[in-house]
Amino acid sequence: MRKIITGILIIITAVSVVTGCSKAENAADYIAPALASISADEPTMQEEEPAAVQAIAFIEETAGETAIETTEKITETTPVTTAATEASTETVAETAPEPPPLPPVVIPQKPPRAANDKWLALTFDDGPGRYTQKILDLLEYHGGRATFFVVGAYVWNQRQVINNIIAQGSEAAGHSWHHYNLTQIDEQAVKDQITYTDNAILSITGVSPPKFFRPPFGAYNNIVREAAREIGTAIVLWNIDPRDWQRRDADYLYDYIMDKAADGAVILCHDIYETTAQAMERVIPDLIEQGYKLVTVSELLGETLTAGLIYYSEKHILN
Ligand SMILES: [Zn+2]
Repeated sequence: MRKIITGILIIITAVSVVTGCSKAENAADYIAPALASISADEPTMQEEEPAAVQAIAFIEETAGETAIETTEKITETTPVTTAATEASTETVAETAPEPPPLPPVVIPQKPPRAANDKWLALTFDDGPGRYTQKILDLLEYHGGRATFFVVGAYVWNQRQVINNIIAQGSEAAGHSWHHYNLTQIDEQAVKDQITYTDNAILSITGVSPPKFFRPPFGAYNNIVREAAREIGTAIVLWNIDPRDWQRRDADYLYDYIMDKAADGAVILCHDIYETTAQAMERVIPDLIEQGYKLVTVSELLGETLTAGLIYYSEKHILN
Protein backbone atom coordinates (compact mmCIF):
# COMPACT_ATOMS: atom_id res chain seq x y z
CA MET A 1 0.00 0.00 0.00
CA ARG A 2 2.79 2.41 0.90
CA LYS A 3 4.44 1.73 -2.44
CA ILE A 4 1.24 2.61 -4.26
CA ILE A 5 0.90 5.92 -2.38
CA THR A 6 4.56 6.74 -3.02
CA GLY A 7 4.02 5.99 -6.70
CA ILE A 8 1.04 8.31 -6.90
CA LEU A 9 3.03 11.09 -5.22
CA ILE A 10 5.87 10.65 -7.71
CA ILE A 11 3.42 10.83 -10.63
CA ILE A 12 1.78 13.98 -9.24
CA THR A 13 5.18 15.59 -8.73
CA ALA A 14 6.27 14.64 -12.25
CA VAL A 15 3.09 16.07 -13.76
CA SER A 16 3.61 19.32 -11.83
CA VAL A 17 7.15 19.62 -13.13
CA VAL A 18 6.21 18.78 -16.71
CA THR A 19 3.34 21.27 -16.79
CA GLY A 20 5.65 23.89 -15.32
CA CYS A 21 3.09 25.23 -12.85
CA SER A 22 4.34 28.46 -11.31
CA LYS A 23 2.69 30.17 -8.41
CA ALA A 24 1.26 32.83 -10.67
CA GLU A 25 -0.13 30.23 -13.05
CA ASN A 26 -1.63 28.33 -10.14
CA ALA A 27 -3.29 31.51 -9.00
CA ALA A 28 -4.67 31.98 -12.49
CA ASP A 29 -5.82 28.38 -12.51
CA TYR A 30 -7.80 29.00 -9.34
CA ILE A 31 -9.82 31.57 -11.24
CA ALA A 32 -11.03 29.09 -13.84
CA PRO A 33 -12.75 26.60 -11.52
CA ALA A 34 -14.42 29.51 -9.76
CA LEU A 35 -15.66 30.86 -13.07
CA ALA A 36 -16.84 27.39 -14.02
CA SER A 37 -18.85 26.96 -10.84
CA ILE A 38 -20.23 30.48 -10.95
CA SER A 39 -21.29 30.37 -14.54
CA ALA A 40 -22.25 26.74 -15.04
CA ASP A 41 -25.97 27.47 -15.21
CA GLU A 42 -25.66 31.04 -16.28
CA PRO A 43 -27.52 31.97 -19.46
CA THR A 44 -25.15 32.73 -22.33
CA MET A 45 -24.69 36.42 -22.91
CA GLN A 46 -26.53 37.33 -26.06
CA GLU A 47 -26.17 40.39 -28.16
CA GLU A 48 -29.50 41.69 -26.90
CA GLU A 49 -28.94 43.84 -23.87
CA PRO A 50 -31.72 42.37 -21.64
CA ALA A 51 -30.18 38.89 -21.72
CA ALA A 52 -26.81 40.33 -20.89
CA VAL A 53 -28.29 42.24 -17.98
CA GLN A 54 -30.02 39.10 -16.76
CA ALA A 55 -26.75 37.22 -16.95
CA ILE A 56 -25.04 39.88 -14.88
CA ALA A 57 -27.85 39.82 -12.33
CA PHE A 58 -27.40 36.06 -12.10
CA ILE A 59 -23.66 36.45 -11.59
CA GLU A 60 -24.30 39.03 -8.88
CA GLU A 61 -26.62 36.65 -7.07
CA THR A 62 -24.43 33.59 -7.29
CA ALA A 63 -20.86 34.78 -7.46
CA GLY A 64 -20.35 35.51 -3.76
CA GLU A 65 -18.88 32.61 -1.87
CA THR A 66 -16.89 30.92 -4.57
CA ALA A 67 -15.31 34.14 -5.71
CA ILE A 68 -14.23 35.08 -2.22
CA GLU A 69 -12.86 31.62 -1.63
CA THR A 70 -10.98 31.97 -4.90
CA THR A 71 -9.47 35.32 -4.10
CA GLU A 72 -8.32 34.04 -0.75
CA LYS A 73 -6.42 31.31 -2.51
CA ILE A 74 -4.89 33.88 -4.84
CA THR A 75 -3.83 35.95 -1.88
CA GLU A 76 -2.24 32.92 -0.28
CA THR A 77 -0.28 31.94 -3.35
CA THR A 78 0.57 35.39 -4.71
CA PRO A 79 2.39 37.33 -2.01
CA VAL A 80 1.51 40.98 -2.40
CA THR A 81 1.69 42.13 1.21
CA THR A 82 3.96 44.99 2.09
CA ALA A 83 5.97 42.76 4.41
CA ALA A 84 6.55 40.19 1.70
CA THR A 85 7.50 42.86 -0.81
CA GLU A 86 9.94 44.48 1.59
CA ALA A 87 11.50 41.15 2.45
CA SER A 88 12.00 40.21 -1.19
CA THR A 89 13.33 43.68 -2.03
CA GLU A 90 15.96 43.36 0.71
CA THR A 91 17.03 39.97 -0.55
CA VAL A 92 17.32 41.26 -4.09
CA ALA A 93 19.27 44.33 -2.99
CA GLU A 94 21.86 42.17 -1.25
CA THR A 95 22.38 39.76 -4.08
CA ALA A 96 21.76 41.58 -7.36
CA PRO A 97 21.81 45.12 -8.75
CA GLU A 98 18.58 46.84 -9.81
CA PRO A 99 17.44 45.61 -13.25
CA PRO A 100 17.96 48.24 -15.94
CA PRO A 101 14.85 50.29 -16.73
CA LEU A 102 12.84 49.13 -19.71
CA PRO A 103 13.04 51.36 -22.79
CA PRO A 104 10.26 53.96 -23.12
CA VAL A 105 7.07 52.75 -24.76
CA VAL A 106 5.87 54.47 -27.92
CA ILE A 107 2.21 54.07 -28.88
CA PRO A 108 1.88 53.47 -32.63
CA GLN A 109 -0.42 55.71 -34.65
CA LYS A 110 -3.90 54.30 -35.22
CA PRO A 111 -5.80 55.11 -38.43
CA PRO A 112 -9.26 56.73 -38.14
CA ARG A 113 -12.39 54.73 -38.89
CA ALA A 114 -13.48 54.79 -42.51
CA ALA A 115 -17.19 54.99 -43.33
CA ASN A 116 -17.62 51.33 -44.24
CA ASP A 117 -15.15 49.82 -41.78
CA LYS A 118 -16.32 46.86 -39.71
CA TRP A 119 -14.69 47.18 -36.30
CA LEU A 120 -14.47 44.48 -33.67
CA ALA A 121 -12.71 44.37 -30.29
CA LEU A 122 -11.04 41.16 -29.13
CA THR A 123 -10.46 41.27 -25.36
CA PHE A 124 -8.34 38.95 -23.21
CA ASP A 125 -8.82 38.69 -19.43
CA ASP A 126 -6.87 37.35 -16.44
CA GLY A 127 -3.31 37.81 -17.76
CA PRO A 128 -0.68 38.70 -18.44
CA GLY A 129 -0.32 34.95 -18.77
CA ARG A 130 1.60 32.23 -20.48
CA TYR A 131 0.01 32.93 -23.89
CA THR A 132 -0.18 36.73 -23.91
CA GLN A 133 2.99 37.15 -25.97
CA LYS A 134 1.91 34.53 -28.51
CA ILE A 135 -1.40 36.34 -29.06
CA LEU A 136 0.47 39.65 -29.36
CA ASP A 137 2.76 38.14 -31.98
CA LEU A 138 -0.26 36.94 -33.97
CA LEU A 139 -1.85 40.39 -33.81
CA GLU A 140 1.40 41.98 -34.94
CA TYR A 141 1.91 39.50 -37.79
CA HIS A 142 -1.62 39.84 -39.19
CA GLY A 143 -2.12 43.53 -38.42
CA GLY A 144 -4.62 43.68 -35.57
CA ARG A 145 -4.89 45.06 -32.06
CA ALA A 146 -6.69 43.93 -28.90
CA THR A 147 -7.41 44.93 -25.33
CA PHE A 148 -5.84 42.96 -22.47
CA PHE A 149 -7.65 43.22 -19.12
CA VAL A 150 -4.82 42.45 -16.72
CA VAL A 151 -4.84 41.36 -13.08
CA GLY A 152 -2.84 43.93 -11.10
CA ALA A 153 -1.11 41.37 -8.88
CA TYR A 154 0.53 39.80 -11.95
CA VAL A 155 1.79 42.85 -13.81
CA TRP A 156 5.06 43.53 -11.99
CA ASN A 157 6.31 40.07 -12.86
CA GLN A 158 5.27 40.63 -16.47
CA ARG A 159 6.63 44.13 -17.04
CA GLN A 160 8.11 43.38 -20.43
CA VAL A 161 4.88 41.84 -21.70
CA ILE A 162 2.90 44.85 -20.47
CA ASN A 163 5.25 47.13 -22.40
CA ASN A 164 5.02 44.88 -25.45
CA ILE A 165 1.21 45.16 -25.37
CA ILE A 166 1.42 48.96 -25.56
CA ALA A 167 4.24 49.05 -28.11
CA GLN A 168 2.32 46.68 -30.40
CA GLY A 169 -0.59 49.16 -30.49
CA SER A 170 -2.83 47.05 -28.27
CA GLU A 171 -3.86 48.27 -24.83
CA ALA A 172 -3.71 47.10 -21.22
CA ALA A 173 -6.65 47.95 -18.98
CA GLY A 174 -7.43 46.93 -15.40
CA HIS A 175 -9.24 43.77 -14.30
CA SER A 176 -8.83 44.56 -10.54
CA TRP A 177 -5.76 43.90 -8.41
CA HIS A 178 -6.77 40.58 -6.81
CA HIS A 179 -9.51 39.33 -9.14
CA TYR A 180 -11.98 39.86 -6.31
CA ASN A 181 -15.70 39.83 -6.83
CA LEU A 182 -16.11 43.57 -6.41
CA THR A 183 -19.74 43.25 -5.28
CA GLN A 184 -18.46 41.62 -2.08
CA ILE A 185 -16.20 44.44 -0.89
CA ASP A 186 -16.84 48.02 0.18
CA GLU A 187 -16.64 51.08 -2.03
CA GLN A 188 -13.17 52.20 -0.96
CA ALA A 189 -11.81 48.70 -1.55
CA VAL A 190 -13.37 48.70 -5.02
CA LYS A 191 -11.64 52.00 -5.78
CA ASP A 192 -8.33 50.59 -4.51
CA GLN A 193 -8.66 47.48 -6.68
CA ILE A 194 -9.11 49.69 -9.75
CA THR A 195 -6.62 52.48 -9.02
CA TYR A 196 -3.76 50.25 -7.80
CA THR A 197 -3.92 48.32 -11.06
CA ASP A 198 -4.12 51.47 -13.20
CA ASN A 199 -1.19 52.98 -11.27
CA ALA A 200 0.90 49.84 -11.81
CA ILE A 201 0.25 49.95 -15.57
CA LEU A 202 1.17 53.64 -15.63
CA SER A 203 4.34 53.10 -13.58
CA ILE A 204 5.54 50.31 -15.85
CA THR A 205 4.66 51.77 -19.24
CA GLY A 206 4.71 55.51 -18.62
CA VAL A 207 1.40 55.56 -20.51
CA SER A 208 -1.92 56.26 -18.77
CA PRO A 209 -4.23 53.25 -19.00
CA PRO A 210 -7.63 53.81 -20.64
CA LYS A 211 -10.48 55.23 -18.59
CA PHE A 212 -12.32 51.94 -18.23
CA PHE A 213 -11.90 48.61 -16.47
CA ARG A 214 -13.56 45.20 -16.43
CA PRO A 215 -14.78 43.81 -13.09
CA PRO A 216 -13.90 40.13 -12.46
CA PHE A 217 -16.72 37.73 -13.36
CA GLY A 218 -18.48 40.69 -14.99
CA ALA A 219 -19.98 41.28 -11.53
CA TYR A 220 -21.08 44.75 -10.55
CA ASN A 221 -23.69 46.46 -8.38
CA ASN A 222 -24.57 50.06 -7.58
CA ILE A 223 -21.57 50.40 -5.23
CA VAL A 224 -19.17 49.29 -7.98
CA ARG A 225 -20.80 51.69 -10.44
CA GLU A 226 -20.62 54.56 -7.96
CA ALA A 227 -16.95 53.81 -7.23
CA ALA A 228 -16.24 53.78 -10.97
CA ARG A 229 -18.10 57.04 -11.49
CA GLU A 230 -16.26 58.77 -8.65
CA ILE A 231 -12.82 57.82 -9.91
CA GLY A 232 -13.77 58.61 -13.50
CA THR A 233 -13.72 55.19 -15.14
CA ALA A 234 -16.25 53.25 -17.23
CA ILE A 235 -17.12 49.54 -16.99
CA VAL A 236 -16.53 47.45 -20.11
CA LEU A 237 -18.09 43.99 -20.34
CA TRP A 238 -18.73 42.02 -23.56
CA ASN A 239 -21.52 40.87 -25.85
CA ILE A 240 -19.89 37.70 -27.26
CA ASP A 241 -18.72 35.05 -24.80
CA PRO A 242 -17.40 31.78 -26.27
CA ARG A 243 -16.62 30.51 -22.72
CA ASP A 244 -13.08 29.58 -23.61
CA TRP A 245 -12.40 28.80 -19.93
CA GLN A 246 -15.04 26.07 -20.04
CA ARG A 247 -14.63 24.62 -23.54
CA ARG A 248 -10.89 24.11 -23.95
CA ASP A 249 -11.32 23.36 -27.63
CA ALA A 250 -9.67 25.55 -30.26
CA ASP A 251 -11.98 24.38 -33.07
CA TYR A 252 -15.10 25.10 -31.02
CA LEU A 253 -13.78 28.52 -30.06
CA TYR A 254 -12.93 29.34 -33.67
CA ASP A 255 -16.38 28.27 -34.93
CA TYR A 256 -18.18 30.19 -32.17
CA ILE A 257 -16.34 33.46 -32.78
CA MET A 258 -16.58 33.26 -36.56
CA ASP A 259 -20.32 32.57 -36.30
CA LYS A 260 -21.10 35.43 -33.86
CA ALA A 261 -18.65 38.09 -35.08
CA ALA A 262 -20.38 41.37 -35.90
CA ASP A 263 -19.53 45.00 -36.42
CA GLY A 264 -19.13 46.79 -33.08
CA ALA A 265 -18.85 43.60 -31.00
CA VAL A 266 -16.71 43.05 -27.91
CA ILE A 267 -15.51 39.44 -27.61
CA LEU A 268 -14.44 37.93 -24.28
CA CYS A 269 -11.48 35.51 -24.23
CA HIS A 270 -8.67 34.66 -21.80
CA ASP A 271 -4.94 34.77 -22.59
CA ILE A 272 -4.16 32.09 -20.00
CA TYR A 273 -5.35 29.06 -22.00
CA GLU A 274 -3.37 27.27 -24.68
CA THR A 275 -6.55 26.40 -26.63
CA THR A 276 -7.45 30.10 -26.80
CA ALA A 277 -4.04 30.97 -28.23
CA GLN A 278 -4.38 28.09 -30.71
CA ALA A 279 -7.80 29.32 -31.82
CA MET A 280 -6.36 32.81 -32.37
CA GLU A 281 -3.98 31.39 -34.99
CA ARG A 282 -7.04 31.16 -37.26
CA VAL A 283 -9.50 33.61 -35.67
CA ILE A 284 -7.26 36.65 -36.13
CA PRO A 285 -6.37 36.19 -39.82
CA ASP A 286 -9.85 34.94 -40.77
CA LEU A 287 -11.69 37.85 -39.12
CA ILE A 288 -9.37 40.20 -41.00
CA GLU A 289 -10.01 38.20 -44.18
CA GLN A 290 -13.74 38.75 -43.64
CA GLY A 291 -13.19 42.49 -43.61
CA TYR A 292 -13.04 43.17 -39.87
CA LYS A 293 -10.53 45.58 -38.41
CA LEU A 294 -9.41 44.30 -35.02
CA VAL A 295 -9.25 47.36 -32.80
CA THR A 296 -8.88 48.17 -29.13
CA VAL A 297 -11.85 48.93 -26.89
CA SER A 298 -10.64 52.54 -26.74
CA GLU A 299 -10.83 52.79 -30.51
CA LEU A 300 -14.22 51.06 -30.70
CA LEU A 301 -15.91 53.05 -27.95
CA GLY A 302 -13.82 56.20 -28.24
CA GLU A 303 -15.37 59.38 -26.98
CA THR A 304 -18.60 57.65 -25.95
CA LEU A 305 -16.90 56.31 -22.81
CA THR A 306 -18.50 57.85 -19.72
CA ALA A 307 -17.54 57.10 -16.11
CA GLY A 308 -19.89 54.71 -14.32
CA LEU A 309 -21.68 53.55 -17.49
CA ILE A 310 -21.59 49.91 -18.58
CA TYR A 311 -20.60 48.96 -22.12
CA TYR A 312 -21.42 45.55 -23.58
CA SER A 313 -20.55 46.55 -27.14
CA GLU A 314 -20.48 49.61 -29.30
CA LYS A 315 -24.27 49.66 -29.51
CA HIS A 316 -25.23 48.21 -26.11
CA ILE A 317 -24.65 50.68 -23.32
CA LEU A 318 -26.35 50.60 -19.91
CA ASN A 319 -26.88 54.05 -18.41
ZN1 LIG B 1 -11.31 37.46 -14.92
